[in-house]
Order: sequence, then structure tokens, then C-alpha cells
Amino acid sequence: SGLSESSIRMLSRGASLLSSATSASSSLPLSLRMASSLLISEPKYGFLRELGLKEQNHGVFDGSWKASGPVTASNNPANNRPIAEVVNGTVEDYERAISAAKAAQSMWADVPAPRRGEIVRQIGDKLRSQLKNLGHLVSLEMGKIAPEGVGEVQEYVDICDFATGLSRTYNGQIMQSERPGHMLLENWNPLGVVGVISAFNFPCAVYGWNNALALITGNALLWKPAPSTPLTAIAITRLIEDVLKANDIPTGLCSLVCGDSDVGQALTKDKRVNLVSFTGSTEIGRIVGQQVQGRFGKVLLELGGNNAIIVADDADLDMVVPATVFAAVGTAGQRCTTTRRLIVHESKYEEVLERIKRAYAQFESRIGDPLEPNTIIGPLHNVQGVMKYKATIAEALVAGGKVEYGGKVIDKPEGGNYVLPTIITGLKHDAEVIHRETFAPILYVLKYTTLDEAIAINNEVAQGLSSSLFTQRIDNVFKWMGPKGSDCGIVNVNIPTAGAEIGGAFGGEKETGGGRESGSDSWKQYVRRSTCTINFSKHLPLAQGIKFE
Ligand code: NAD
Repeated sequence: SGLSESSIRMLSRGASLLSSATSASSSLPLSLRMASSLLISEPKYGFLRELGLKEQNHGVFDGSWKASGPVTASNNPANNRPIAEVVNGTVEDYERAISAAKAAQSMWADVPAPRRGEIVRQIGDKLRSQLKNLGHLVSLEMGKIAPEGVGEVQEYVDICDFATGLSRTYNGQIMQSERPGHMLLENWNPLGVVGVISAFNFPCAVYGWNNALALITGNALLWKPAPSTPLTAIAITRLIEDVLKANDIPTGLCSLVCGDSDVGQALTKDKRVNLVSFTGSTEIGRIVGQQVQGRFGKVLLELGGNNAIIVADDADLDMVVPATVFAAVGTAGQRCTTTRRLIVHESKYEEVLERIKRAYAQFESRIGDPLEPNTIIGPLHNVQGVMKYKATIAEALVAGGKVEYGGKVIDKPEGGNYVLPTIITGLKHDAEVIHRETFAPILYVLKYTTLDEAIAINNEVAQGLSSSLFTQRIDNVFKWMGPKGSDCGIVNVNIPTAGAEIGGAFGGEKETGGGRESGSDSWKQYVRRSTCTINFSKHLPLAQGIKFE
């Protein structure tokens, strides 16, 4: 595309300033004109003030709010108008924040884990009290529909509950020692500071998964959110600040630095950051992963996906159709777990394709402003996304693909980054365009003959996040789950690829990065294991029977 996210932001900010300058209010002083062009000034968006947001917000929190970097506007993808402004952080601001986080962690590590869990429980309650407001901010800033925005906050609430229980139950083992009068056990200690770099498409839940587990295990956090979703990060950090203050805990424990890749780089290269939890594209994850590994830090990578649903010859199509539509067009195709490939048995291919096309057509009238109750598909997050959507469809056509439905940008009077969800057939399963993750609602439908062939197609892409098989046959299910089945981190049966629950470990293999977050034993990512051998005898039997005398 040639345009960086920040230059697009500046362009649309410029356009909006221009339109306000030529409006009837042009006799007003510039500062007032700027403020009145922001959505936060409109009564409709009063919930932003309830979250403590203002026309201009400091994007750095190190125990207090101050920032010295460039001022950017966060835009509403439904019309590309600025919501409010943010003073971003610089590398110098980052230095203050990391020092504050490190200092707070030293105190926090001494707090008993169940007490840490109590603080996380309070964070969950605080989020509950702002569930709708925060969910609507996620919608407004990211572009996902309101139930998805609220659902993201609910995920954060749920992981707080999960982590609260875990704070009383996470434990190590006692092993049998070979030596008399010896005890062999393991203890889990905090890592120190966990740096969280997050993506635009889950501006709340991803931080929540990291925040709750890292806190109960005794770590501090430093968060660098995506440059285009800073307001969600600021609002969340303000809620956490309230809880920490009320409990006399140093608030730098959950530090925040809004900013661009320069801040991300400072964090990635910093030895004081013991774990870098990175969620984003495989392209950037590859750089971050190698840099952190280069300094022998720990890294948790949650990168791109290229997820498939396989429809077996015995699949219940009444389940397949809604599942596919939900997972392929939900969040306008901007989930890491979005279904991008539909691999259908040849005996069901025509019927599935026809039914999915009909379902897509029904939703056309419900593409619009994510905060409107009737909307089921919102806009793409930014102009860049629309350009990538167009380029990908053009490439698919050149490769011999056929657009069965969609393939068009929607021009609405209010502007916005709207596109029609798209179904493409006629491509080879290994076409280059299919093997790439395009972050837009484009679904490739493919045909297969044997289940082994379908599994091979599922596994042949570089990414390995989520996968689903629709079947009624038990032998298919166990093959799919087993060593010759799906090679993804998420292996579903009769449910879509999207919509994971917090109770399981979330993440994927291969170029998805191998990280695991959220439930199961993902908490182990945030601790270091100390294997302790305690000699409580009066003798010193050495290993291998060696006598050193
Ligand atoms: P992105 O890679 O462009 O950016 C992610 C974050 O990295 C942002 O905060 C960005 O500012 C930061 N960053 C950019 N350059 C950096 C650098 N050199 N060093 C350090 N940080 C840097 O991703 P995006 O466009 O925001 O998000 C979409 C991608 O995220 C998709 O590929 C999607 O599949 C993936 N994703 C994965 C998961 C998962 O759990 N596997 C979840 C959500 C999103």
C-alpha cells in the first residue's frame, strides 16, 4: 500500500480538520474548532467521558499520566472521524514507565498470591461496572459490532475470575529424591516485568489474558497497545489504576506506553523486560521473536492464522452454514481465528456453496455502523485494510479465481471502511493468495475427495492457529485430534474456528508462533521454575556416588 498507519491517521485527521475549517464554525479559535470536530464532544458518545476520557489524553502511565510524544487522533472506522486525541509516548517516556513497573514489581512479589488474586478479582469487578461503556469504546475504536466489543470486555472479566481461583491453586510438584534425607521439589517464581505488545483487532481481551495471569503470578506489566487503539488501553489502565490506588499498591505495577514501533522496539530489546508477550502479524512477530531470543529473554508469540473448516460427507449442513458465516464474516474477517478456507467434500460442495451464498446475501443490508443495534458486520479497521482487500481479490482473479459473492467496496455517505464479505472459488488449494493471511472477510471454498486429502490441505499452510471439522463420525473425530490430524493449536469439531473459550490454552503452531495464553496451564508462561533440592540430613551424599575427600 505504501502508506503507514500513522500517515493514514494523519491524512484523515487532516481531512477532518479541513472540513471543520471550512464549516460555519471557522470563525472560532483553532483549539475550539479542533475540539468540536472530535466525536467525544458529541452527546451520543457521552460514555467516553464516563470512562474518564477527554478531548486530549496522555497515553503514558507510569503511576501518573504524562506523555511527551507526538499527538495523534484515534479514528472511528465507521466514518474515519477522530474520536479523541492522544499524546503518545517516546522512548524517554518508556524509560520512566519501565523503571516504575520494575520498582512496583519488587513490592508485588512479596504479596501472597491469594491476596494478589483478590486485587485481580477487584479489577474484574471494576470492568463489570463499565462493561457496556468499555465494550462500546472497543466497538467505536476498533470497528467490531457492539456485542463483540462487550464480549471482549466479558472475556477480560472471565479471565479475572479464572485467575482469582488460580491464585489459590497454582502449585509445583514434590518429586522422589534418590538420596536419603533429601527433598526434591519445584517452586514457581514470578519472572519480573511482562511487556505486552498488542494488535488492533483485540484491543481489550488480549491484554486482559496477560494482565490477569501475570499479576496473580507476581509480575508487573508494561503495555504497548496498537497505535490505532490507544483510547481502549487508556480507559482500561484508568480502571486498573483506581483498583491499585484503593488498595495502596504502587500504580506503576500496570504501566502503559501508547506509541508506535519505536516504543515496541525499546521494549523488545530491553533486558529488564523478562517476558515479551507479542500479539500481531507473523511479519513483525518474526522480528520481535528473534530479538528477544537474541538477548535470551522469554517470548510468547500469538501471530497470524489461516484457519480452515473441513466439511465431511456426513456433516450436518444446518450447523455448517451458520458456523461458517459467523466465523468468516464476524468482526469483518479481522479475527486471528477467522475462517479463511472452507474445504468441502465433493458430494456436498454445490449445496454448501449455494447455501452460504444465500446466507451472505441476507446480511448485506446489515453492514453498517457497529454501534447500531441492527448491524451485524462493521467496517474494516482502516483504509489500509480496504486496500489489501481489493488487492487480494484482484490477485485471486488473476490466479483463476471466481468471485461467487461480494468483491466490492461499499461507499456509504458517511464514509467508513466498508467492504462486502466475499466468497471465492476456482483456485488451487495451494495458490499463493490462499496461503497468505489477508485480514479481511474473504473466504476461499475448496473441494476434496478423501479426509486425508482435506487434512493435508488444512495443514499445508505456514500458519497453525485454528481448525474445525464438521462430521458425525467418531473415527473422523479421533483421527482429526490425533497425530495425523490437524496440526493447529486449536482443533475443533462441529463448532467454528472462531470463538474460543478462556478455559482452554489459546494459541497456535508454526508461523502462529507457538505461544499459549489464557486458560489451562498457560500461567506457566509467566513464571520461572525453581527446582529445589533440600538436604535435611547431616550427610552430604554426592551425585553418582562420588567421594570428594
Ligand atoms: P502488527 O504486527 O502490525 O502490530 C502488532 C503490534 O506490534 C502493534 O502494537 C505495533 O505497534 C507493534 N509493532 C510494530 N512494529 C514493531 C516492531 N518492529 N517492534 C515491536 N513492536 C512492533 O499487527 P496488527 O495489524 O495490529 O494485528 C493483526 C495481526 O495480529 C494479524 O496477523 C492477526 O492474525 C494477529 N493476531 C493474532 C492473534 C493470536 O492470538 N494469534 C490475536 C490477534 C491478532
